[in-house]
Amino acid sequence: MDAMEQLYQQIILDHAKARQGSGLLDDYTGESFQVNTTCGDQVMLRVKMDGNRVADIGYQAEGCSISQASLSLMYELTAGQPRSEVEDLHATFTEMMHSRGDFPEEKLDELDDASALLGVSKFPARVKCALLGWMALIDAMGHEQEGS
Ligand code: ZN
Repeated sequence: MDAMEQLYQQIILDHAKARQGSGLLDDYTGESFQVNTTCGDQVMLRVKMDGNRVADIGYQAEGCSISQASLSLMYELTAGQPRSEVEDLHATFTEMMHSRGDFPEEKLDELDDASALLGVSKFPARVKCALLGWMALIDAMGHEQEGS
């Protein structure tokens, strides 16, 4: 394992242990429940939209450390961001998870610490673990009423 892989590993372990954004919101505009049957991961995620901005995200989740770390990293990356930015980040993250470890550096930078999950893309069986939280977030955002 090279130094970069070790750093990535540490970021994943840290986030799996101390998850940012964990806990359900009482005040929210949309929610989504997602299950990854291949691994047994599950998440209930709630989002509070403020116009076109993701004002806050909260979730209750259980599962493997990759799914848990990915939720925490996603929270750090997306909470407080405009909807369009979150959708762009989702697209970039999904692309990375399907890259099998071969992803351009400038796009990795866009994902900040969430780029630590790049190594997971080499293991197709674990890709769903990393994408679970993002699926829940995009789904919960979509449940928001038009124009509210
Ligand atoms: Zn998993």
